[in-house]
Amino acid sequence: MMKTVDLVVPCYNEEEGLTHFVEETNKVIASIPDCRFRYILVNDGSKDKTYLIMKQLAARFDNIKYISFSRNFGKEAAMYAGLQHTTADYVVVMDADLQHPPQIFPQMLEAMEQGYDCCATKRDEREGESFFRGAFSKLFFRLSNKLTDVKNPYGAMDYRMMTRQMTDSVLELSEVQRFSKGIFSWVGFNTKWVSFKTVDRELGTTKWKFSSLFKYAIDGITCFSVAPLRFTAVMGGIIFFISLIYILITLIQTLFFGVTTPGYVTTLCAVLFLGGLTEMSIGILGEYIGKIYMETKERPIYITKFSNFEDEHNEEKEQ
Ligand code: UDP
Ligand code: MG
Repeated sequence: MMKTVDLVVPCYNEEEGLTHFVEETNKVIASIPDCRFRYILVNDGSKDKTYLIMKQLAARFDNIKYISFSRNFGKEAAMYAGLQHTTADYVVVMDADLQHPPQIFPQMLEAMEQGYDCCATKRDEREGESFFRGAFSKLFFRLSNKLTDVKNPYGAMDYRMMTRQMTDSVLELSEVQRFSKGIFSWVGFNTKWVSFKTVDRELGTTKWKFSSLFKYAIDGITCFSVAPLRFTAVMGGIIFFISLIYILITLIQTLFFGVTTPGYVTTLCAVLFLGGLTEMSIGILGEYIGKIYMETKERPIYITKFSNFEDEHNEEKEQ
């Protein structure tokens, strides 16, 4: 039976590689019978000619749909927008830089036939990565698997194929602060993990800085777990208990032995330690309160400026 597949592709400043991406992917698509593919390209407020190229591509190929944001809302928002517009039996989320090889579509489709709800990818080799970055991401995966309901293998990527049912479940989680890797895992369903060797970006440059990766890691944990909050409470309890014992000992000492040793080092240590701990706890609290604050606003996750989906904002008028 003919199956339909929607490819959701977030694009931010991809003018150099987008055409190449579509052409390469088309080659793979042509080799897969019994499947009708459609692209949903999401222009995430690119500052280059990405939107123009999208329109050209849509004119060239009739299976290309696009949505263009009013500004840069981030990859998470772009993925959400794309997913919202999907109607196909199977939905794929992939990057526009060919780092997510379309060559494994047949493998993914096979997993779907086998009854999996999702075929996700993880990277095996992290050759091009610095030692520091690799260690950091290992630590992140271990920590988030421990602290949250989200269980992802090391190197898990967003690149995946999902059934209609799973896609709809993902869309039901309509939080503004999205962490898709967590959401994909949180909704459950049977996932088959496949891996492939990562390749360097052919064209264009990566949009990630280390600082944004750090923020991504913090979100990955705080969006899915309140364990850090519990940790601060437990730490507070332990310190309270220790200080109680300390007070008792000092009291007994002064009452019975009358020792009055000047203890400024002890005082200094206690002040610095507690000060640091309090500061950290407030920081963790702040992280959550900030999240609550942003969620209560119930702002839209993205704003569309142009699109060639019929029911939506009309295409830009040709002048
Ligand atoms: N991307 C996006 N919005 C952003 C940043 C990135 O839609 O604000 C897209 C980008 O065009 C690409 C994908 O997300 O298709 C992954 O970005 P990138 O290749 O820079 O990340 P990396 O592969 O280095 O993780
Ligand atoms: Mg990339």
